[in-house]
This record gives sequence, structure tokens and C-alpha cells, in this order.
Amino acid sequence: MKVLVAVKHVLDYNIAPRIKQDGSDVDIAGVKMGINPFDEIAVEEAVRLKERGVATEIVAVSIGGESSKDTLRHALAMGADRAVLIQTDVVMQPLGVAKLLKAVVDKEAPSLIILGKQAIDDDAGQTGQMLAALLGVGQGTFASAVTIKDAEVEVAREVDGGSETVVLKLPAVITADLRLNEPRFIKLPNLMMAKKKPIDTLAATDLAADFSPRLKLAKVAEPPVRKAGVIVGNVAELVEKLRSEKVIA
Ligand code: AMP
Repeated sequence: MKVLVAVKHVLDYNIAPRIKQDGSDVDIAGVKMGINPFDEIAVEEAVRLKERGVATEIVAVSIGGESSKDTLRHALAMGADRAVLIQTDVVMQPLGVAKLLKAVVDKEAPSLIILGKQAIDDDAGQTGQMLAALLGVGQGTFASAVTIKDAEVEVAREVDGGSETVVLKLPAVITADLRLNEPRFIKLPNLMMAKKKPIDTLAATDLAADFSPRLKLAKVAEPPVRKAGVIVGNVAELVEKLRSEKVIA
């Protein structure tokens, strides 16, 4: 069974984002980048499926500039077999990414496609759902457990107030949630070995997909600075304060 995993190269999760002075976007010039954390979980799940003898090949795919190869190498070092970079310098939006991923899926014909539940840069949480719709296949989003059963996959989904289990026919799209697994630590020899694994590069413009942006980013702003809190002595004082400040009637 071939598994395709989509991995996005994003701002490192430990970095506090800076906004460009004109408020037009987040400033990523010279900032540390890395694999989107949910995509690392997606790769880990694919590698575990391979270790269990369920998956036979893992293909990692990223859409972006040359630097996305760093994230693809990370996926290769974790255990992906080969990687594909869909190269473009256009700022991508979920629909465009989903269309390009569909073009790759049409070519590669994987049985399972795993994405992260959201990219931590745009926080859109849309690409997996859009990809499943474009492919006309089932989707198991916010997955916290994945079990392959013959030609089906059982997915436990994180939903408000608990867990929901769905069974999807393969091929299917899954998006990885935080509790799906804990990604492995990459050892140096694996990083070295990953350098020998192939990364195919295709130009996004060579794929038959219209990935032009549909949304215009109007403005990016810092969240308002929070006012300092007040410590009250007891519940009665708290209620009085909430009343006097008209938070409660
Ligand atoms: P989003 O809908 O932007 O929050 O992204 C959800 C998931 O789609 C990510 O966790 C990735 O698995 C995948 N994805 C989004 N953008 C890209 C990209 N440029 N390259 C590869 N995968 C992507």
C-alpha cells in the first residue's frame, strides 16, 4: 500500500512571528523554518504503518520554494522512501495546494493520503477537506487513531466532547491531530541516509492545475496587548467587581 504524506515548510513553532512594518504579512526573512508539526505527526503515522508491514512505500510531497527541500529531507530522515517537491514561489492557499496535491495523487495513485490537520502558519485547516472533495474520496479529519482493515481504514476522530469513529473506503484522506502519535527523534545517521534518498522536483506550472490565489490578504496585525490582571480577595469581591464593571448584571 502506497501512502502519500503532504508536508509544509513553515515558520518554526518556537519562533514568535514578526509582522512586516506595513502590516502586509508575517515577515519570514531570515527566520528559522521547519516541518509543520502536524505534518511531522502525519509522517510518523505513515512510518509506523510501514513498520507494521501495512504500508510498502511512503512518498512525501511539499509545495513551495527550494527551501521546502529541508522539510522533505526531514520526512525522508523519519522514514519516507522518496520525496516530491512541487516548486513554486507563488504564496499558496489551501485550494491551490489541494489542486496541486490532487495532480500528484492522480499520478502516484496512493491508497492513503495523510496531511496535517492544519498548517501553523495560516491556521486554515482546509487543505485535507478540499483534497478529499476534489478526489471524490472519504475523509477522516482530526485523526487520533488510524487502523487499516483490508480495503478500508478506521479513523478515530477528535470531536467536541470526545471521539467519533468513521470507516472509510480506500483510497481516503486523513488529517493528523495532535494525539495521533508522538513523532520520533531523528538520529544523525538517518539524517545522513536521507541525503541519499531521491527528491524529484516538478514545476507547479507543469501540473494541470489552476493554483492561482483566490483570496487577497488584506492586513496582518498583532493581537491587542492584554491588560494586566487584578487579584481580588474573595468571591464576593469578584462578583462586586464584575457588577461594577458591568461584566455581569
Ligand atoms: P492548511 O489547510 O493550510 O491549514 O494545511 C493543512 C495541511 O495541508 C498541512 O498540515 C499539510 O499537510 C498540507 N499542506 C498545506 N500546505 C501545504 C504545502 N504548501 N505543501 C505541502 N502540504 C501542504
